[in-house]
Amino acid sequence: MSRVISIKEAVTQVLSSVTPLPAEDVSVEDALDRVLAADVSALGDSPPFACSAMDGYAVRAGAAGRTLTLVAESRAGSPTDREVNEREAIRISTGAALPPGAEAVIPQENVRRDRSQIETLSALSDGDNVRAPGEDMRAGALILSTGTALGPAELGAAVAAGAGSVAVSCRPRATVLCTGDELRAPGEPLGPGEIHNSNGPMLVSLARRCGAAVSPALRLPDELAATEAALAQALQESDVIVISGGVSVGPHDHVKPALNHLGVTERFWGVALQPGKPTWFGTRAGKLVFGLPGNPVSSAVTFSLFVRPALLALQGASDSAAEHAILGQSVRGNPGREQALRVKLERRAGRDLVAVPNGPQGSHIITSLVGADALALIPAGAHELPAGTVIELKPLLN
Ligand code: AMP
Ligand code: MG
Repeated sequence: MSRVISIKEAVTQVLSSVTPLPAEDVSVEDALDRVLAADVSALGDSPPFACSAMDGYAVRAGAAGRTLTLVAESRAGSPTDREVNEREAIRISTGAALPPGAEAVIPQENVRRDRSQIETLSALSDGDNVRAPGEDMRAGALILSTGTALGPAELGAAVAAGAGSVAVSCRPRATVLCTGDELRAPGEPLGPGEIHNSNGPMLVSLARRCGAAVSPALRLPDELAATEAALAQALQESDVIVISGGVSVGPHDHVKPALNHLGVTERFWGVALQPGKPTWFGTRAGKLVFGLPGNPVSSAVTFSLFVRPALLALQGASDSAAEHAILGQSVRGNPGREQALRVKLERRAGRDLVAVPNGPQGSHIITSLVGADALALIPAGAHELPAGTVIELKPLLN
């Protein structure tokens, strides 16, 4: 193994290898979880016109106790151009345009109605129960900036701003390859010495959570020729290749030699991390290749630490700011490596955020991922960190 580097150095190396993908226009309906590649500004005011905030009557401002004659109706989508004077009222629905001359809306529960007349039971000031144009968005105002991930709220805001489609970064195309003669497909009966390919669906769905376009994982035998052929094809089709297993130093680990033959340049091999030490990263002409250790927890942890930031950066999205918590129990450090503990987070008595290890932490204990909220980074060192020590958190996709 070449020089073992820190998590931070490894992330820096990965991010410096990323060239953001180009943009494409997609309809707002299809843009959930995509990342904006251009700002969205309001094309017009929202609301576009003065409208009623209540079901009631559009009237002039004035005292309670007035008797007014109903002369027209303004419905949502069907405004009236009839002007209202101080002796008149116009029936109006929520969201309907305020008619000319009207200054306020009196809610229907504040009137006594008698056929074509109403009596106002409350006083009204100018603008009462009226939504002014542009109260939400002014024409030209910046509503969403480049790099924003589009959730349901952002999609709604983009539509209110007048957008029918948005410029978003292309999805990274990713291939997941799982090496190992011992692997059987999910649900298949197991022969002697065999295990299920749990990394396949896990890594594919992790990549999808990060916005990648991914096909189901491919299984590879521990053979050089097959490994090389699959990697050659993946390098043609994908921006990001994630390989699980086969990157250690065993006689049946063929991933590194295959990548070497294919001209993929090694950027690092070996991170001072537990679990996840034999992580490999290389590049070829802008394509990113990650060799993740096969143990399921190592795969998930190294994906979260290294592949996730790459997939976000390819889409022009930045990671959230670093978060911290305090340890809920003492943890023994590892002399040579940082540890990435799977933790549950609790807000104790509305005060500190407390991180508690989510059960046994072995790299084969896949259940330590289930229900975990984050990774807690424990600095390298042989000493014991007491409960209450402040530690850094990293996102763990779940
Ligand atoms: P490797 O990195 O190939 O040396 O594999 C390390 C450990 O992870 C071994 O116990 C493998 O059986 C296990 N492993 C490798 N690939 C997978 C996978 N796709 N799903 C579950 N376990 C795996
Ligand atoms: Mg293997």
